[in-house]
Amino acid sequence: MRRSNGRRRGAYVPPAFLILAVLAAALALAGWFFSRGGFSGNGGDGGSAVGVRRTAGSDGCTLTELGEAAVHTGELILVNNWTPYHFPEEQPLACIFDGKTGSYYVRDKEVYLAPEALDALNEMMDAFRAQGGSKTVNVVAGYRTAAFQQHLFDQSAEKNGQAHAEKYVAQPGGSEHHTALAVDFSLFFEDGSSREYTGDGEYAWINSHCQDYGWVVRYDEAKEALTGIGDEPWHFRYVGVPHATVMAEKGLCLEEYIDYLKEFPFDGQHLTVDCGGASYEIWYCAGTAACLPESGEYTVSGNNVDGIIVTQTVDTVEKVS
Ligand SMILES: [Zn+2]
Repeated sequence: MRRSNGRRRGAYVPPAFLILAVLAAALALAGWFFSRGGFSGNGGDGGSAVGVRRTAGSDGCTLTELGEAAVHTGELILVNNWTPYHFPEEQPLACIFDGKTGSYYVRDKEVYLAPEALDALNEMMDAFRAQGGSKTVNVVAGYRTAAFQQHLFDQSAEKNGQAHAEKYVAQPGGSEHHTALAVDFSLFFEDGSSREYTGDGEYAWINSHCQDYGWVVRYDEAKEALTGIGDEPWHFRYVGVPHATVMAEKGLCLEEYIDYLKEFPFDGQHLTVDCGGASYEIWYCAGTAACLPESGEYTVSGNNVDGIIVTQTVDTVEKVS
């Protein structure tokens, strides 16, 4: 704005009016700030930032019918005893034994994962080793068929009684292992001994950094009423880096996160996440049709309940230092 001498010379502003003007400006600024999401979501660790954005990327999007199967497919599907997995006719699976790096063990050659989950597991375990972790983690469970879950359930019921099995073993269809996006860890030592994985000691690194590789510690004691499952520090679920980042920063289990995402419909504010050198914009579409970007990179996942989540990779990353 240009400076004007005339303005300074002529204007007399009464003090009461001045105070009102300052107040109005402060209110307007506060309104703008909170409409952008205010303080919520800034993690403060410098590694990532979670926020909201008005429909910035909504211009080049088309409402696309994806079909019922899309609601039950993808890295964000929620599976628990009251939200059963919809088994597809074909499920892409990768053998961990054949595809793993040298940073961990899988002693059983018949353990499978979704290919993207195996890649993410390799990355996480390589990073664990690179920062000084020992080669002791052993993957003892991955993908499970309904028949195998039934076998586990029957085995537990026979050994400990029906009530115990119902409390501690997921029903066939209700196990997250059906998704091929979950692993269980155990520990295996050079002397041939093994031990339960508790996420303590050197392994605390894995449980506190897993979100950087797209994994979450799925079952926490504090969330038992929501998940139906008690503390399981050895069970990790792959949801992808942006979603794992938000879940970890906000302390949400998958049941809560699926609900939280409904606050970001396509025609409302979108959830934004900056992490791992990329920036993402996330929105929820109810039903079987989703608003998809006409160009650029994005992923689509059902929530296995009632809708579809679109995760768009936004090109520009604003580095805040
Ligand atoms: Zn498990």
